[in-house]
Amino acid sequence: MNSDEAMRRAIDLGRQMMRSGEGRPFGCVILRNGEVIGEGCNSMDRDNDPTAHGEVEAIRDACRRLKTLDLAGAELYTSCEPCPMCTSVMYLAGISKLYYAAWPRTPACLAATPAACAARSARRSPSAQWPASK
Ligand SMILES: [Zn+2]
Repeated sequence: MNSDEAMRRAIDLGRQMMRSGEGRPFGCVILRNGEVIGEGCNSMDRDNDPTAHGEVEAIRDACRRLKTLDLAGAELYTSCEPCPMCTSVMYLAGISKLYYAAWPRTPACLAATPAACAARSARRSPSAQWPASK
């Protein structure tokens, strides 16, 4: 599979999940040497799992398939710019290259942008009340 095909597949995965009503419009494909080693799409709503982002699901899939925690040399294709959690997981897994289709200001991505995640974290974090709670 080439890069264009991988990005199209990532977008299609996100579209399929969104249409099913079980997730949000974020899909992801991981390639290594042109071979698909992992795929995933956002299944937060279906699984009641706030970590079930497309990128994390694709990394989980690749690690299971290859029976490894090391995805060095892999390229990750995702339908929207990854949030901070997914970026961290990519770093931990050793993903070598990232390609994303949509910038998070695109309406479909607004629910999971880095800025939105940071804002939610700030609202939920006890430290966000510092020093007002003192
Ligand atoms: Zn994410």
